[in-house]
Amino acid sequence: MKEVIVISGKGGTGKTSITAAFASLAQNAVIADCDVDAADLHLILEPDITTENNFSGGKTAVINTDKCIGCGKCANLCRFDAIHLDAKATGGGKKFSIDPISCEGCKVCVEFCPVRAIDFKDALNGKWFISKTRFGPMVHAKLGIAEENSGKLVCLIRQKAKEIAKEQNKDLIIVDGSPGIGCPVIASITGADLVIVVTEPTLSGKHDLDRVVDLTSNFGIKTAVCINKADINPEITEQIVEQAGKRNVKVIGKIAYDESFTKAQILKAAITEYTGGFIAGEIKKIWQEIIYNLG
Ligand code: SF4
Ligand code: SF4
Repeated sequence: MKEVIVISGKGGTGKTSITAAFASLAQNAVIADCDVDAADLHLILEPDITTENNFSGGKTAVINTDKCIGCGKCANLCRFDAIHLDAKATGGGKKFSIDPISCEGCKVCVEFCPVRAIDFKDALNGKWFISKTRFGPMVHAKLGIAEENSGKLVCLIRQKAKEIAKEQNKDLIIVDGSPGIGCPVIASITGADLVIVVTEPTLSGKHDLDRVVDLTSNFGIKTAVCINKADINPEITEQIVEQAGKRNVKVIGKIAYDESFTKAQILKAAITEYTGGFIAGEIKKIWQEIIYNLG
C-alpha cells in the first residue's frame, strides 16, 4: 500500500482542486482529507457519510455548580482567563463557569478547587467521518470552531484511511494535507511514500516552497513539485524550477491558469470530470508521473 500526500507551502495554490483531480484519476484508492483546519475536499467529492465519530483531542474543565461555593480561587488561578462569574447561575451565592473555548485543559483549577467542584472531561473538539464518494471511500473531519489539536486529528484520519485500505484491499491512499509547515503538516507527511508540493509562481509561493522542502528533506520523504498557474509569472516559474533542481526535487508538472478550475468547483466537479481539454491532459500526465515515482 502506498500513500501520496498533496501539500502546499501556503493556502490558495489550488492544492485541493488538484487533489480532487488525482482522486478522480486514481484506481483503487482511499481518499483522506487531512486539511482539517480548513477542510473543503468534501465540497467537490460530496461524500455520503456512513460513519460519524466524535473527536477528543484533550481535556476540558467543567464546574459543577451544585458543589461550587463561589470562593473564586479557580478564576484567580486560571492563566487563560477562562473562568468568570456566571451571571445566569441560579441557586444564590457566587457561581463561576468556564468558557470551553478559552480553557486550555491545564488542570490547575481542578487540582486547587477546595471542594473538588471541577470535573475534568474529554473535550469534544470535532467530528470525523467515513464516507462513500464517487471516487472511492473517504475519511474526513470537521474540527470545531477555535479548536486545536489538529495534528492529533490528522494522525487519526491517516490511521483510519490505512485501516480502510487494508480492509478493502486498496493499494493507494491519496491525502489532501494541510498547508504550511506546522504540526498538522508534520502529522500529514511523516512516513508517507511521496509528497507532492503544489505551489504557484509568486514570491510567497517560492519562499514557502523552500520552507516545505526543508521540512520534507528533514523527514527524508521523497518530494516532487507541481507548479499551478505556471503561466501567470513565467520568470518566477523558472526560478522555482531552478530552485527545485538545486535541491534535487523533481518538478513533475506545470499547470497553466485556467478558469475551468473555478467553473468545475461551482459544479462540485473535479477539473478532470468537468473538461477533457488541455488542462485535464496536463493533470493526467502529472498523475502518471506520480504513479511512476511511487514505484
Ligand atoms: S475554586 Fe471551586 S468552589 Fe471556588 S469558585 Fe472555583 S469551582 Fe467554585
Ligand atoms: S483547566 Fe486550566 S485553562 Fe482550563 S479553566 Fe482550569 S485553570 Fe483555566
